[in-house]
Amino acid sequence: MWKAEDSIDLYGIENWGNGYFSVNDKGNIVILPNKDSYQYADVMELIEEIADNKDLDFPILLRFPQILEDRINEITGSFLSAIEEFKYQGTYHPVFPMKVNQRKEVIEYILKYGAKYNIGLEVGTKAELLAALSLGPPKEALLVCNGYKDQDYLRLALSIHNVNNIIIVVDLFEEIFDILKYSRQMGVIPRIGMRVKLFSRGSGRWVESGGESAKFGLSTAEALELMKILKDNNMGESLKMIHFHIGSQITDIRTIKNAMNEAARIYAKARKISDIEYLNVGGGLSVDYNGSSTATPSSANYTLQEYANDVVYTVQKICEEEGVPCPTIVSESGRAIAAYHSMLIFKIIGRKNAKDSFLKPPKEEDPIQIEDLCCAFKEIDIENYKEHYHDALQYRDELYNAFNLGNIGLEERAKGETLFWMVCKKAAFYAKQAEDESEEFLELKKLVSQKYIGNFSLFQSVPDMWGVEQIFPTIPLHRLEEMPSEHGTIVDLTCDSDGEIKRYAGDSEGREYLEMHTLVEDEDYYLGIFLLGAYQDTLGDFHNLLGSAHEVHIMVEGTEWWICQKVEGDTCRKLLDFFNYETKDYIWEIMDRCVEKKQCIDKKGLEQIESQLNRTLKGYTYFIDKPNGDGRARVQEAETEPPCRR
Ligand SMILES: *Cc1c(COP(=O)(O)O)cnc(C)c1O
Repeated sequence: MWKAEDSIDLYGIENWGNGYFSVNDKGNIVILPNKDSYQYADVMELIEEIADNKDLDFPILLRFPQILEDRINEITGSFLSAIEEFKYQGTYHPVFPMKVNQRKEVIEYILKYGAKYNIGLEVGTKAELLAALSLGPPKEALLVCNGYKDQDYLRLALSIHNVNNIIIVVDLFEEIFDILKYSRQMGVIPRIGMRVKLFSRGSGRWVESGGESAKFGLSTAEALELMKILKDNNMGESLKMIHFHIGSQITDIRTIKNAMNEAARIYAKARKISDIEYLNVGGGLSVDYNGSSTATPSSANYTLQEYANDVVYTVQKICEEEGVPCPTIVSESGRAIAAYHSMLIFKIIGRKNAKDSFLKPPKEEDPIQIEDLCCAFKEIDIENYKEHYHDALQYRDELYNAFNLGNIGLEERAKGETLFWMVCKKAAFYAKQAEDESEEFLELKKLVSQKYIGNFSLFQSVPDMWGVEQIFPTIPLHRLEEMPSEHGTIVDLTCDSDGEIKRYAGDSEGREYLEMHTLVEDEDYYLGIFLLGAYQDTLGDFHNLLGSAHEVHIMVEGTEWWICQKVEGDTCRKLLDFFNYETKDYIWEIMDRCVEKKQCIDKKGLEQIESQLNRTLKGYTYFIDKPNGDGRARVQEAETEPPCRR
C-alpha cells in the first residue's frame, strides 16, 4: 500500500527540502521552519484558513521568516565552527546581497535575525542603497556598495560614512578618481574595497560573472595601480576590503577551492602593501533545487559545511604561508539565505486534452472501425497492449481516410478520435505497468499526458524557470498518502506557450512529467512551487498583466502557527496605473463613452457596466473562484467504460 514515505521518495522531498519540508500521516505537506520535528505547520490547515478568509484568494505566496532565521544561523554557524576547528585567527560576518530579494519585509527579517551576527547588506545600485538606508541598518554592520557608481551614488555613500559602516567597492578602475575627488570635496575619509577579477571562473549558468573577461572587477595591474594611487594620496589606510564574486550557483566545489586559493593569495600579497581588514568572498553558495547533489546547473555537489571549511582553511593556510594576519572573512550568500523561505500555492482550475469527456454512444450505422476501437478499448490489458495499440493506430488512419473521401461525417470522426484517445490512455497505462521504456511508448506517454491549468503566472512568480530553465520543485501539497495515478504537466494562466513547467524535481536533468492524483469533482487540488525566495520576487514580470500574488507570512511554535503579516497582491487597477492607464477617471471616461452611444443602452445596462468595472478594477489579477463557490476545479472524469454494443 502507498504511504506518505513513498511520496517523499517519489518527489525527492528530502533531497531538495533541506529538512524544511516533510509529509505527515494525513498525506499533507508540513513545513518545519527550524528543521525540528516538534515544530511544524500543516500546509492544508494554512490553506483552509486562507480559503475561508474573504480578503485572500489563491495563488498565495507563503513566507516563513523563521526559515530565514534558520538559514542565517546555519550559514554563520558553519563558518564559526570552521573557524573553531582550524583555530582561525579572525572572525566572520555574513552580508546579504540586496539584489537577491529587495522586498522590504524580507530585508527587515534578515536584519532582525542576523543582528546577533552583525549581518550587513550589499547593494549594487543607488535605489538599493536608498532602500537599505531606509531600514536603518546598525552602525557596526557592513554596508557594501558595489556596482557602477555615478556622482549621486558616490556622494550619497560618502555622505553617510560617519553613520554607517560603508565600504565603497571599486568595481571599475576609473571610479577611484571620482571617489578621491568627492571625498576631498566633502571632507570624508573613505573606506574603500576593491573587487578583483580572478582567473578562476565558475562553471554553469553564471560562468560569465567570473574569469578574465568578467563584467566587474580590476585586473592585477589595475589593482596594483589603485593601491599606488591611494598611497600617493596618503590614503593607504582607506583600503579596507578585497572583494571577489565568481558568480551565483557555483555547483562544483572544485571551482570554489580554486577561486579561494587565488583570492587568498591576492589578499596575502596585497596585505603586505596595505592594511586590509576584510576578505569578501562574495556569493555563489549553491542551492540544490533538484535534489540530485550533483554539479548540474540546478544542484550542488557539496554541503554548506564543506563550503565554509574550504573558505576558512584556504585563507588560514595561505596567510600562514605568506606570514600575514588573517582577515575578517565576509561572505555574501544571498541565494543560500533566501531560497528556502518562500513557496507559492496555487490551485488547478482545469485540464486541457480532456478529450474523453465528449464521447457519444455508438450507433448501428457507425463504421466498422468505431466498433473495432470500442473492442480494443474493452479488451486491452497488460498482455496485449502493444497489439491493440497498433490496431488502434490502423483503425484511426482508416477513419481519417474515410473522412477525407467523404464517406463519413464529422460526428463519426469525433467519435473515432475520442475512442482512439481512450485506447491510447489505457495502452500508456499498461506500458507503464509493464515498465515498457521503448521509444514508441515513451512517445505515447507524452501524447496522452494531460496539461493541467494552474492559477498562477510563471513569468511573475517563477521567472528563472522561464528565463534560465532552472528547476524549482513543484509537487502536490496533499493526498500524498495516495498513489498518484496520473501524470501531466502544469501550464499557467498566461496565453504564452512558454508558460509551462517543463521540468520537475526528481533527478539531475529534471523529470518531464509530474505524477499527480486523479482530480475529484468539487474538490480543490493544490500544488506548491518551492524554494522561491531568491531572485524570483523582483525578477518577475507582468506578462498578460498578471501581477504579484498575495503574501501571507507564517510563524510556527510547536504545532501552533499564526499569520504574522499579510501583504496584498496587485489589483487590476494597480497594474493599469503602473502601465500609464490612468484609472482615476477610468470609470467615468468609459461611462461617458457609453452615454454617447446611448441609443443602444438603458439605465440598467449602464449601472451594470459601472458596477462590473468597479469590481474588476478592485479585484485580484488572477482567476478568482471564490464568490459563489462556483468556480471549483471544473473537471469531468472520463467514463471508464465506453458504451459498446458488443
Ligand atoms: C549577486 C551577488 C551575490 C549573491 O550571490 P549568491 O550566489 O546569490 O549568493 C553576492 N555578491 C555580489 C557582488 C553579487 O553580485
